Amino acid sequence: MRSKNLLEEISDGKLYDIEDMVKADTCGCNGCSDCCRDVGDLVVLTPFDIYEMVNYLGVEFDELLGEKIELRKSNKILLPYLKMQPKNKYCSFLDREGRCTIHSKRPNICRLFPLGRVYKGDDFKYFLQIGNCPKEDLQNVKVSNWLGIENYDKNKKFILEWHKFIKALTFRLKFMRDEKEIDEVNQILLDSFYRAKIEGDFYDEFLKSFPEVKNRLGII
Ligand code: SF4
Ligand code: SF4
Repeated sequence: MRSKNLLEEISDGKLYDIEDMVKADTCGCNGCSDCCRDVGDLVVLTPFDIYEMVNYLGVEFDELLGEKIELRKSNKILLPYLKMQPKNKYCSFLDREGRCTIHSKRPNICRLFPLGRVYKGDDFKYFLQIGNCPKEDLQNVKVSNWLGIENYDKNKKFILEWHKFIKALTFRLKFMRDEKEIDEVNQILLDSFYRAKIEGDFYDEFLKSFPEVKNRLGII
């Protein structure tokens, strides 16, 4: 979590809820794609992001690996991230005209910018990043309209559960020294949450299988 001082430094100093108005609307970005460059270590993908991508593109998780996304290990946890093109560091989902080819199904983190999320207890709020988006005169927009997330309440519940789970898994792996055991945990994580075929509502299916997978991973 960001410290209060850092948050004040990088934001306008306010926290926003989903129904609040915020000066974040770039009104179309005018061909800019600055926030799609060199963000490989920032955009960690959740199972929901992957579910959206694979269904939209009609591919399997493993077909995205290597070309569009890549696995990175952080705190011993192996998770998928957006892959940047080696030559120019632009996101692999960006086309030659600088447009996102999965715009309607882009990852939740991409939807936020220039907003960010800050977790507080069992909840999170939004903050407005300053100095990162080159567009001047950002306009007022309701946070919910800027994000454009369908089934927002279910999405938020999932994001909070996932955040809590990754924190708990980080703590569990901190004390695990055996590389084989760590690999097994990561295999279960990827197979159960990212490679799993989901028929029907993502959120319902996720919450149904969540307790059993957590149990296998030793997370209470
Ligand atoms: S940096 Fe700002 S203007 Fe440029 S693409 Fe991102 S949100 Fe749009
Ligand atoms: S997924 Fe789309 S919005 Fe997100 S960084 Fe890549 S090109 Fe940009």
